[in-house]
Amino acid sequence: MKVLLVGGGGREHALGWKIAQSPRLSKLYLAPGNPGLKALGETLPVAAEDVDAIVKAAREKAVDLVVVGPETPLAAGLADRLAAADIPCFGPSAAAARLETSKAFAKEICAAAGAPTAAYGRFHEAGPARAFLRAQRAPYVIKADGLAAGKGVVIAETLAEADAAVDDFLAGRFGAASAEILIEEFMEGEEASFFALCDGERVLPLSAAQDHKRAFDGDEGPNTGGMGAYSPTPVFTDEIREQTIARIAEPVVAEMRRRGAPYRGVLYIGLMIGADGPRVVEFNARFGDPECQALMRRLESDILPALYAAAVGDLAGRTLDWSDEAAALVVLAAKGYPGAYEKGSRIRGVEAANRLPGVVVFHAGTEERDGALIAAGGRVLNVTATGATIREAVERAYAGVDAVDWPEGFCRRDIAWRALAREPG
Ligand code: ATP
Repeated sequence: MKVLLVGGGGREHALGWKIAQSPRLSKLYLAPGNPGLKALGETLPVAAEDVDAIVKAAREKAVDLVVVGPETPLAAGLADRLAAADIPCFGPSAAAARLETSKAFAKEICAAAGAPTAAYGRFHEAGPARAFLRAQRAPYVIKADGLAAGKGVVIAETLAEADAAVDDFLAGRFGAASAEILIEEFMEGEEASFFALCDGERVLPLSAAQDHKRAFDGDEGPNTGGMGAYSPTPVFTDEIREQTIARIAEPVVAEMRRRGAPYRGVLYIGLMIGADGPRVVEFNARFGDPECQALMRRLESDILPALYAAAVGDLAGRTLDWSDEAAALVVLAAKGYPGAYEKGSRIRGVEAANRLPGVVVFHAGTEERDGALIAAGGRVLNVTATGATIREAVERAYAGVDAVDWPEGFCRRDIAWRALAREPG
């Protein structure tokens, strides 16, 4: 099978690493890939956002499947364009990706599907939004409806802060993406992410993971794309898993189908796990980055037939095997990230890290220049490791981090602290 993988971050390196292990793979094309992926297939000079160029490349290379990593091309209709060209695509249509691209739409679907989530109101004007806030209790959750690069959510402790966020969003902070806002009930609990493959009708559950959004130890500092992750996660018990599948994943996929927007691809369910069980925080139309990397380290089955089956509506009767081992991931980021940071510094020691027990380093923001590995982004490397326990996986991942020689980088030193607090010894 010839596969075109769209994207060039750590998530795509992990997907490509897993796909490349499939005996069914004959050729992997990468649009555009990264220095880590280069060894696994043929890189094409095609940007992940360039829908026209991706469709053209898929046609020219006569690929059997396109696997889409990031959300931007999905929101721009890549899956629809590929469907029109009769090329199977792992990733939802633009209409189905609205589960991610419109928070108001996601709320409508939850209501119709009976999936538990926070109570909320939707507003286009500040007056009614302020009145609604006054009927809520702190903390106040204010969200832009559309995509805002992870910056469209404000959790305000006071009414003054909440009013300011309402005004800021509605004044066009994120353009059309914040022309409508949601104000939500604050949900108490612990967050986890659950992933399921969907073929428009059926759901094939994957596993759960937790990530660390804040830049610094102790969950301090600004929000980032994610500084680390681990899987499995103790808070996601078998009971919570069953509830998540039966109350959320299956009814949501059924509701999307009923509406004529069948969901194909991976459904990412961001959960708040509290006293009443799992509730939906958000949906994403793609794998989480970095959670995907932890999942790929634990998946034992061949992923390629499952991705293809999801794309063509053939998941019936499929199962996947998962390792009993845990996986942990530490992000090495450029100093200054998520604010301003320098590019161009030299990275050494990745091969040495890769030789350590259980360690695989995925590239997220690197470039190769004259044979040297260079930092070229904010989140630069993902050091993953597996181990018999979460503790062992974390210790091995930090051994990998310490083998990488990159003085201009930094990482969090407390990845998986919630799980480790629960794990003996
Ligand atoms: P992401 O960058 O994770 O995609 P996003 O901009 O899509 O974020 P959400 O995931 O909806 O936004 O919210 C961001 C974070 O805010 C959540 O991970 C959670 O910690 C917190 N949050 C959102 N909604 C609620 C809620 N109703 N109650 C409590 N916390 C919430």
